Amino acid sequence: MMTVMRSESGMSTNGDPTDPESLGHIQRLLLAWYGANARDLPWRHTRDPYAILVSEIMLQQIQVVRAITFYLAFMARFPTVESLARASVSDVIHVWCDLGRYKRITSLHTTARRIVTDFGGIVPADVAVLQTLPGIGPYTAGAVACFAYGKDVGFLDTNARRVIHRVFVGCDVPAATASMRRLQGLASQVVPSGQGWSWNQAVIELGALTCTARRPKCAACHIQEHCAARATIADAVSERLTSPRGVVRRVGDGQNRLYRGRILAELRAESAGVHLRDLGGRLRPGFTDEDVPWIAGVVESLRKDGLAFIEEERSLYSAESVDPTADAGSRMVRLPD
Ligand code: SF4
Repeated sequence: MMTVMRSESGMSTNGDPTDPESLGHIQRLLLAWYGANARDLPWRHTRDPYAILVSEIMLQQIQVVRAITFYLAFMARFPTVESLARASVSDVIHVWCDLGRYKRITSLHTTARRIVTDFGGIVPADVAVLQTLPGIGPYTAGAVACFAYGKDVGFLDTNARRVIHRVFVGCDVPAATASMRRLQGLASQVVPSGQGWSWNQAVIELGALTCTARRPKCAACHIQEHCAARATIADAVSERLTSPRGVVRRVGDGQNRLYRGRILAELRAESAGVHLRDLGGRLRPGFTDEDVPWIAGVVESLRKDGLAFIEEERSLYSAESVDPTADAGSRMVRLPD
């Protein structure tokens, strides 16, 4: 039987952060850090499933600071799921207008009506049931189940995906080495029993404040001694920042062949498809809108080979109502039928 050695910090020297003792240290340190450093955000003061749902939909498209104002205004206008369900589509779009991405609000509106008609006005607590509602994917379903109902589930947004990868797998720059399926499994595995709410908030907060895509603050990170990426992430990020993106793209074919394989792996894991922008974020940490043409080009090469299907998001509304922010990044990509 393998003997697991411990460093003074308590980290397992077998190098596995998911080892129960190392994991225990990570959980305690991260929860303590979160307790002392968490931002005061309005959706962290409620367990109302509808309010959590609204906040999570908003946070998928705007930054936290902007979301606060919109969230408070939206909740003042539509304080309950019933009030949103009763509202006309045009009313809802009017309140939402500055946020763009109208598909999200029309989906939320349809979901509110389904919750009222099919679930008696109670937002479901079950992750699988939540995902049957329009516009609710694995992340939003997990967030509602956890942040509203206190369930110990793991789920991944961009920040959580980065943190889970770095801490438990290793460096994710220039590209992630773990599949989405593996990361989802890890996210579920490492939730401390009975503390899912705080843990998931802490993971997301660490990704937003400390373990950022471009400038991880490892020297100030409370879990640095237990992080699988700690030894290599700074050099990898710095190398990436100093290498012109154009050069990375020109490296071209060989690199894109690698990405083609990884895209197909992501699409196999998500039969419903993935938005192009989200796909880029999974493949390239620090992915921005500037990178959309790159990922679009790689996916297009797969489409030409009959390996991928690209859907356009179409607005149901008149030309005046077409989402002005709609672009290539909002296209859904999936494996062909
Ligand atoms: S040590 Fe660095 S890479 Fe690891 S979690 Fe902390 S900030 Fe992220």
